[in-house]
Parts: sequence; C-alpha cells; structure tokens
Amino acid sequence: MHEGAIAESIVDILKQVMDDNNLKRIVRVRLKIGKMSGVMIDALLFALEALRSEEDVISQTAFDIVETDVKAKCNICGEFYEYSDVSEVVMLCKKCGMPLDIIEGKEMEIVDVEGE
Ligand SMILES: [Zn+2]
Repeated sequence: MHEGAIAESIVDILKQVMDDNNLKRIVRVRLKIGKMSGVMIDALLFALEALRSEEDVISQTAFDIVETDVKAKCNICGEFYEYSDVSEVVMLCKKCGMPLDIIEGKEMEIVDVEGE
C-alpha cells in the first residue's frame, strides 16, 4: 500500500503542475528513486497503471524511472562509498569505524515533467 500512496501523491503533484502551467495533459514524467528509498519501482509502476483509468491527468503519461545508486561519505575521514547493490551497503566506515552519512540513494523525487 506504500507505493499506492506514493502514486496518489505523484498524481496530486502532477495535477498541480498541470493547473499552474495551463497544460492539457502530461506527456512524460521523470522520477528519481534511490535504491535505499524503500520504494519498489515495479509496485509503483503497477500502482500508477491502476490509477491511469480513473485519473485523466496521467491517462497518457509515460513514466521514466531512474534508479540511483547509494552514495555514502564518512564525515570523519572523508572516505567515499558508492554501492549499486543495496545489500553491500555498510553503515560504518571501513577506514575509521565511524557511522557513514548516506548522501544519495534515499530520495524519491520528480525530476522533470513534460506537458503540452
Ligand atoms: Zn572514516
């Protein structure tokens, strides 16, 4: 149900974008979803498809989803980490043992909206 709620909030945002810009329809939406965001992309797309028939705003919208890798940095020694596989993410710096700061990979945002 998590993804269902996200899909609904995306639709709400798109309605707002459509009103603000006097658009007739939304053609394409680019979403950025971090691998650590907890959002299942397949489930989100499924939820958006389910809304398509009842929400005019997305009736013909293409959704491009970019999944971003996890990036982490140690604030103590400055060591930088990047993971394409979430299961490899460590929370402590391998060099100094201090907790890492996740700087990318937890986000879920609308990057770009194309309408006409
Ligand atoms: Zn460190």
